[in-house]
Amino acid sequence: MIDLRSDTVTKPSQAMRDAARDAEVGDDVYGDDPSVNELERRAADLVGKEKALFVPSGTMGNQVAIRTHTERGQELVVDEQAHVVKWEVGGVADLSGVQARMVDCGPRAVPTAAQVEAAHVEESLHRPGTGLLCVENTHNSRGGVAVGVDEIAEACEAAHDLGVPVHLDGARVFNASVALGVAPEELTGPADTVNFCLSKGLGAPVGSILAGPEGFVERARRVRKLFGGGMRQAGIVAAPGLLALENVDRLAEDHANARTLAAGLDDIAGLSTREPDTNIVMLSVEADVHADDLVAACEEHGVAFGARDASSARLCTHLDVSRAEVREAVDRVAAAVGSLRA
Ligand SMILES: *Cc1c(COP(=O)(O)O)cnc(C)c1O
Repeated sequence: MIDLRSDTVTKPSQAMRDAARDAEVGDDVYGDDPSVNELERRAADLVGKEKALFVPSGTMGNQVAIRTHTERGQELVVDEQAHVVKWEVGGVADLSGVQARMVDCGPRAVPTAAQVEAAHVEESLHRPGTGLLCVENTHNSRGGVAVGVDEIAEACEAAHDLGVPVHLDGARVFNASVALGVAPEELTGPADTVNFCLSKGLGAPVGSILAGPEGFVERARRVRKLFGGGMRQAGIVAAPGLLALENVDRLAEDHANARTLAAGLDDIAGLSTREPDTNIVMLSVEADVHADDLVAACEEHGVAFGARDASSARLCTHLDVSRAEVREAVDRVAAAVGSLRA
C-alpha cells in the first residue's frame, strides 16, 4: 500500500529507534529530563523564541496555548477552516471557555488587517472582548497553503495594534519556510507563540513543540499539567524528536513529490488538482464519481488517501514515500478510475 493519507503515517527511522533506546532520561515533571531539556532548547532556537515546551500532540500544544493566552468568555479570532476550530473536538469551547469569531480567509488563508479589525470586539459591560488571534501556516484544510511573510506580519501587526496577542498554529511551519525559501523565524517572529509538530513531515513518532516568551511558557507548563500532558521519562520520545529537527531541509523533496503527484493526477480524466505549495495535494473529483467510491477503488489498487467531501480528497507526501512510489501511485489511481468507469 502506498499510504498518502497523511504525513503522520511515517514510521520512526532506525536512528530514531536507537536514539529512543539510548536516551538519557529523568523525570520531566521535575525538569530533570536532559533529552527533553535539549529538545526544548533547540526547538526554541529554531523558531526564534525564548523558551519551548514539549507536548504530546499538536492539538495539546494549540489548546494549551489558547488556554494560556485567554480568559473564559473571551473571543478567539480565527479562519473558519482553521485546525484549532475544525479538527480539535471543540477544544476552544470545552477546555478554554472561549468563543470563536470565525473569519472566511479564502485561499489567502490568513486574515487581512481589515478582517482582523472588523472581527475585533472591545470588552465592555455587554461584550466579551477579543483575547487572541490564531493563524495557521501552512494552512492544512486550505490545501497546505504556505502563507507569506508579509501576509502573516500584516495580520499579527493588526492584532498587536489592538492589544491582542497572536498564536501561530505552525504544525507544518517548516513546510512553509522551505517552500517560501525564508528562515522559519521570519514566519514565526511576528506571532507571540508558535506550535509545531515533530510527528508530521519531520518524521518523529510523537510530539509537538509550543514556543514563546519565557513567562508564557512557564504558565503554559502549568496548563499542560492541567490537561494531563505532564510526562515523566519523556526523553524516550524527545530523543527521536531531536533527530526530527534535522529533517527540515528535506521537506523540499516532499514538495517536489507533491508537485509530481498533482501533475500526474491532473492528467487523469475526471480528476483535477492545482499546483500545491507544499506537501498536501487537494484533488477534485468530477460529479459522476463520488470521492468515497474513488477512495475505495484506489485502496483496492494499493493507494490510500482520504475523501474530504463528495467531490474532493486530500493526499499527502512524506518521508516514507519516494519519487518512484509517487509515480506508481499516479498509475494506480488511473487504473482505479478506469475500473470505476468500466
Ligand atoms: C496536525 C495538525 C494539528 C494537530 O496535531 P496533532 O499532533 O495531530 O494533534 C494542528 N494544526 C494543524 C494545522 C495540523 O495540521
